[in-house]
Amino acid sequence: MIHEDCIFCKIINGDIPSAKVYEDNDVYAFLDISQVTKGHTLVIPKTHVKDIYQTPEEVASNLFAQIPKISKGIKEAFQPEGINILSNTGEVAGQSVFHLHIHLIPRYGKEDGFKPTWETHSEDYTQEVLQSIAKNIHEKIHN
Ligand code: 5GP
Ligand code: ZN
Repeated sequence: MIHEDCIFCKIINGDIPSAKVYEDNDVYAFLDISQVTKGHTLVIPKTHVKDIYQTPEEVASNLFAQIPKISKGIKEAFQPEGINILSNTGEVAGQSVFHLHIHLIPRYGKEDGFKPTWETHSEDYTQEVLQSIAKNIHEKIHN
């Protein structure tokens, strides 16, 4: 369950202090030390799983089930205009702690400290190519 060298397992255990936002049997939520924006929260499963690929459905269900109410708590506390919910998987995607976590980043405007960039490449993809890409992924989704 707990991984010895994992900083988030240590936080769950109380070996490293954290600013707790929410806790139940399966989930722990606490403030991200970087506070990209005010109220930036991490939601983690108490079971150590490295990333989304290693996550059993039940762990994912229990984790995501708590996201709406924690998000609403942040909204009620600080009245952000919006919230970004994301999880980085793999170093290239920005993952630096290898215990699954969901970032809740409340948004207070476009210059609030969080700057996602979404390039559009829709002109490069015909409907036919999109169908072929979707088919490729669909065939590799295993239950
Ligand atoms: P990642 O980069 O893996 O998506 O997110 C890891 C997050 O964990 C980072 O945003 C980082 O600020 C946060 N973090 C790393 N170490 C600690 C810590 O000891 N305490 C808290 N509260 N957050 C941490
Ligand atoms: Zn862990």
